[in-house]
Amino acid sequence: MTPPEIPKEYDAAQIETKWMNTWDASMYYFDWADHKRPQYIIDTPPPYPTGNFHIGNALNWCYIDFVARYKRMRGFNVMFPQGWDCHGLPTEVKVEETNKITKNQVPRAEFRKMCEDMTRGNIAKMRNTMLRLGFSNDWSNEFITMEPSYYVKTQRSFLKMYEKDYVYHEEHPVNWCPRCETAIALAEVEYRENKTKLNFLNFSLADGSDSGSEKVSIATTRPELLCACAAVAVNPQDARYGKYVGQELVVPLFGHKVPILADSDVDTSFGTGVVMICTFGDKQDIRWTKTHSLKITKAITRDGKMSADAGKYEGMGISECKAAIIEDLKKEGFLYDQKESDQNVGLCWRCKTPIEILSEMQWFIKVKQDEILSAADKVKWEPEYMKVRLENWTNTMEWDWCISRQRIFATPIPVWYCNKCHKIMIAEDSWLPIDPTHQNPPVPCSCGSSDFHGETDVFDTWMDSSLTALCVSGWDSGKELRFPTQLRPQGHDIIRTWAFYTILRSVAIENKIPWETIMINGMVLGTDGHKMSKSLGNVISPEDVLVEHSADAFRQWGASGGSVGSDIMFRWNEVVSASRFIQKIWNIYRFSLSNMDAFCEKDAAAFDVSKLKQIDRWLLSKLGAAVLEITGLMDSFQFSDAFKSIRQFAWDVLADNYIELVKGRLYGSNADEKEAARYTLYTAVSILSKLLAPFTPFLAEEMYSRIGSGSVHLQSWPEIGAFISKDAESKGELIKEITSAIRSYKSDNKMALNAPLKKIEIYNADVDIGDISNTVTSPVDLIKGDPDFAAVPIEVKPNMGLLGPQFRDKAGKIIGALKSLPPQEAEKMKEAGKITINIGGETIELSADAVEVKKELISNGREIDLLHVGEAVVVIVK
Ligand SMILES: [Zn+2]
Ligand SMILES: [Zn+2]
Repeated sequence: MTPPEIPKEYDAAQIETKWMNTWDASMYYFDWADHKRPQYIIDTPPPYPTGNFHIGNALNWCYIDFVARYKRMRGFNVMFPQGWDCHGLPTEVKVEETNKITKNQVPRAEFRKMCEDMTRGNIAKMRNTMLRLGFSNDWSNEFITMEPSYYVKTQRSFLKMYEKDYVYHEEHPVNWCPRCETAIALAEVEYRENKTKLNFLNFSLADGSDSGSEKVSIATTRPELLCACAAVAVNPQDARYGKYVGQELVVPLFGHKVPILADSDVDTSFGTGVVMICTFGDKQDIRWTKTHSLKITKAITRDGKMSADAGKYEGMGISECKAAIIEDLKKEGFLYDQKESDQNVGLCWRCKTPIEILSEMQWFIKVKQDEILSAADKVKWEPEYMKVRLENWTNTMEWDWCISRQRIFATPIPVWYCNKCHKIMIAEDSWLPIDPTHQNPPVPCSCGSSDFHGETDVFDTWMDSSLTALCVSGWDSGKELRFPTQLRPQGHDIIRTWAFYTILRSVAIENKIPWETIMINGMVLGTDGHKMSKSLGNVISPEDVLVEHSADAFRQWGASGGSVGSDIMFRWNEVVSASRFIQKIWNIYRFSLSNMDAFCEKDAAAFDVSKLKQIDRWLLSKLGAAVLEITGLMDSFQFSDAFKSIRQFAWDVLADNYIELVKGRLYGSNADEKEAARYTLYTAVSILSKLLAPFTPFLAEEMYSRIGSGSVHLQSWPEIGAFISKDAESKGELIKEITSAIRSYKSDNKMALNAPLKKIEIYNADVDIGDISNTVTSPVDLIKGDPDFAAVPIEVKPNMGLLGPQFRDKAGKIIGALKSLPPQEAEKMKEAGKITINIGGETIELSADAVEVKKELISNGREIDLLHVGEAVVVIVK
């Protein structure tokens, strides 16, 4: 049978498209009924459907796909689900921008529909990119959080946590974005350094109300909150102000009286050492308001305007009010100085508007720090040091998790308020999914009234996405619960959110850790080493790479560019070198197949391994060791080193050495020897395709399609440990080195590499000489023991450089006399230390270095050259 024609050039575009359109997606489905194989469920990140599957996503998915494909081959029942985290502000903001509206200008249902439509279109685009990159997603386990089939779970989880007393409804300070008009979580606040003015104000003491009474100076960055000033505080250790504690001050412009309190948290070095406590300038204000039970004044409204409490400033924007108040303070003589000051401002993560702290009625979930920390400790972190980030974050949490948002495109909170008795009605499980904004509870309130208003607040989107681990493992689906999952892959930028909330929820709902292992991937930086951003113009998308290169080349960049946990820079030259490696593998493959004479799986199974030659065993032992090493590296997520090892085997061991050494045998006429080389090549190429399968699935499939049956992605991970042998490796190394020494010898002597030598004898080595002889195209003998040889002097060469200057006109004669000395005699005199010659009766003594004596190696009467390779001696007969 003639082997099928294999094209010289690897046509990645054609081959990748072919497999993308041929692969049966069901080969990647998780089998819920299978209990024999161990499960390996991956709690995949549900990307935000922006329509752009960016390069950072792509890197993370490369890692996930390497693991998923590897684990399948290792016999696991793998689930690599795909979710979409649809809800939330970015989509709402985009819909508002695209349609030039705000959410309140269209009916709720219509706005929601606009968001859903945009999301569906975006999901379709991103799904395409993922397929093009060859990810082995299990599309039978896809979830879309905006669909009722998913958000019913979010609602149910809320009921469960309510029953378990994790949920409460309360007025509490929250981080608030006045532009988005919603509460946001602490994790959604971004901090930025800023310059601001510190304003120095005089407050008068309340008792000596006549003019000229004592004044206390206070420095503040937020004079616009004067109307909400509830107290003034000094440090009890501060000798300057001790006498004032217990007295009252009059607030400038507003005239209300506030107490002067002692509090050891007051920083005596900031401003004047006296602070005003307002509701709520910052978090410290909240702590003080609480410890001193101060009155709360809501100076700022939900849309970022001054409230009625601000008196004549009512309705002004915050910065507008600030300017007006500073003007008035100056006019009235309260402001006596201004200084520049550094400020750390909290911004909304989405729209970068400075956040305010408002006291609002919201829904909260209790953050039980110990529970979270102890669960985090039971999870294996890859890399280990990432755990600290979660621990630090958990330890700094001061407030519970505010889960209600004043938005629209999110999961409805299944709650109503009775208009008669004001009691809260929580939905019952059997009513779900339900949207209280347009559905009433099917039963009346306990007071008998059926007059309700539904909750219009919606859930924080992390309420949906923190359930992924539970949802993919069958929670609330009628299927068997296969919780916890085995792996959570995610970026380090969402440890404080996604990882944190998932642990919180899993422990609260199922009292279990969500995953056995969490694998953290780094971010992708631009080619300039900076974070990719539109404004820097350094954004590269996976599609950009696919224009000139292949998905397999992109994936190799992902494998070899970095390691778990660290940020990686995008480098075009790595993609170029990845493409070259694919062509190199193709050359190896093409050579092997055209010389294997259709050697197949069946032939391999029937082959008698005792026919293998030493260099075959060497290759198979090297391959066995490589497989073992790669397996260990894959188990510990060291993709970069695993791929390096594959590359090294293919390029250095197989292509540069083995193939060169067996060409002669493959082209020769000894059937048994040929068969052994074919078996070895078949085994190497077949295993190579399997090792490559997780990394370059298209190339691997194309290779395997001509040598195996079925998809390479359904094969078992290779195992050829039986061939590992120290002895085979040392013999093979010796063959390799002897061959290479002979080739260097030819090249040093300006011979063509295929020029035959008369004869080669190898002493003191136990090696197969067939492959050496073929490779160096010369007859080779293997001889026991050491060679018998001697160095025989054959020519005397006078040292002209020395003799010329010393003897001038006599030099010619001396040189003639030296040349005519018998070489044996000259050598003897040289050894004795001086050379004596006679010229016309005159005896001249010369030093030993006056001549060189050229020698020739003679073995059994033949002229030879000697090469030493380790213990072995190679005699080249001339
Ligand atoms: Zn905002
Ligand atoms: Zn009622």
